[in-house]
Amino acid sequence: MTMLFDVHPNPHPRSDAEREAILARPGFGDHFTDHMATATWTASDGWQDSAIVPYGPLAMDPATAVLHYAQEIFEGLKAYRHANDSIWLFRPDRNAARFAASAHRLALPELPAEDFVGSLEALVTTDQKWVAKGGEDSLYLRPFMFASEAFLGVRPSRRATYCVIASPAGPYFSSGVKPVNIWLSTTYVRAAPGGTGAAKCGGNYAASLIAQAEAAEHGCEQVLFADAVEHKWLEELGGMNVYLITTDGELITPELNGSILEGVTRDAILTLAAEFGLTPVERRIEIAELLEGIASGSVSEVFACGTAAVITPIGSLKTAEGQHPVGSGEAGETTTAIRARLLDVQYGRAEDVHGWMSKV
Ligand code: PMP
Repeated sequence: MTMLFDVHPNPHPRSDAEREAILARPGFGDHFTDHMATATWTASDGWQDSAIVPYGPLAMDPATAVLHYAQEIFEGLKAYRHANDSIWLFRPDRNAARFAASAHRLALPELPAEDFVGSLEALVTTDQKWVAKGGEDSLYLRPFMFASEAFLGVRPSRRATYCVIASPAGPYFSSGVKPVNIWLSTTYVRAAPGGTGAAKCGGNYAASLIAQAEAAEHGCEQVLFADAVEHKWLEELGGMNVYLITTDGELITPELNGSILEGVTRDAILTLAAEFGLTPVERRIEIAELLEGIASGSVSEVFACGTAAVITPIGSLKTAEGQHPVGSGEAGETTTAIRARLLDVQYGRAEDVHGWMSKV
């Protein structure tokens, strides 16, 4: 049976002036709307208590399983306001499917796709005033689920808490799209075969932070991880997938191998390739091949992609041996065009020929 998310209105919502001040300078992940969606699951009774409630702290027993064993998963997607004021989600069915796959890997209960999407729609409808209208403004949605049984044994929790919070997000690149410098980590790996790389679980991100710090020490904004076995195949960034464009018209991304997260943006770009006269290719990419291609010019553009920044051009790759600038170091023409195309679909400025948008 489909869950109903009854609304328990926040008795103390932010005033119009407070909300407008936040929406004028939202940043990313700093501010949250007046409500959140919640539901709980128990092994004995299944899903229950679904509701939209005032945003606020969660009380937790110190023995709550997630605090000890990190049995937790999450998702990230955005709500976009179109020119006619309608509000839309981009492929929420894909996030629902990935959430279910992550739940399976982390031994958490699966939330039916219709309830996942239903929770997002209920929260966005309740907090619709928080969806700003403008260039690249959006409302970032963060569904998550964690083991909420107070028990210290190492076994799947018999209680899980599901929650969705929402955070207004401004344009990722406030002063024009800027290429980033990427650190190619050979010290740390993100995910190993048989591990949790293909799941969106908190532990993957905790494990990436030290590599991110190493990148910062080398003057880089992000880390690009190699595979855990041979340390020579490209995988992905800490929170984005990666693509290269070759002068012979290929748009190449590492194939899904069980340790790469299947990005919704990555998938959309594979579909869009043809519109740009490019052949989409999913295959293993050797780091040496990438660096040689950059040096010879046969790899003309490299970019990262994900919900938060849509597409981020990569200006250079840095290894312990040195820096490898990509092309001129500026945002590539095709990278910029694909980015604009995706944004046009998300904001309703281009026809949604692939049926990706879902009205709230
Ligand atoms: N890889 C990782 C590790 C991520 O965290 C994300 C963000 N969810 C992505 C790739 C991009 O996925 P999506 O396009 O669905 O945001």
